[in-house]
Amino acid sequence: MKKAKLATLWLDGCSGCHMSLLDVDEAIAVVAQKADLVYGPLVDAQEFPEDVDVTLVEGAVSSQDDLEKIKHVRECTRLLVALGDCAVNSNVPAMRNSIPVKKLLERIYIQGADERPGIPTDGVPPLLAHSVPVHEVVKVDLFVPGCPPSASAIAYVLVELLEGRMPDLNSKVKFG
Ligand code: SF4
Repeated sequence: MKKAKLATLWLDGCSGCHMSLLDVDEAIAVVAQKADLVYGPLVDAQEFPEDVDVTLVEGAVSSQDDLEKIKHVRECTRLLVALGDCAVNSNVPAMRNSIPVKKLLERIYIQGADERPGIPTDGVPPLLAHSVPVHEVVKVDLFVPGCPPSASAIAYVLVELLEGRMPDLNSKVKFG
């Protein structure tokens, strides 16, 4: 039987959701029978493939780079899952939203600098005015709250999706 293509994407998050994914223990064997992991920080692929079945997205959309990535990933993915509170409601990254970007960068890189004050621009993607949840910029097919979601919830989501069912997350997840 042809295996599904599974990807993960790391936007503005702390990597805790990916750590929880790594914690699924023996469920990884079930997932590995049904899917190949084709992209994400856990594998070495450089380009996002064109025909991915399921992508788990960690993190909010905070920079121009995040925005371009998630739009491309959406175009190439059949089922897009917002994994964790940062992806679902922008959570921690949104704490900077009340401060204008220019003021924020000046506070950190100029007023807060011990040496060589200056806002870096070389190779640094510009921040968006606000850090936003994934569904504000692209369609999301499934929301999995939690900071991070438990490994058991992630394992359940993956197995259900890879078997062609939409997971019923009632009582299995919570915010925070
Ligand atoms: S939801 Fe929590 S664990 Fe996941 S990226 Fe955000 S802060 Fe980290």
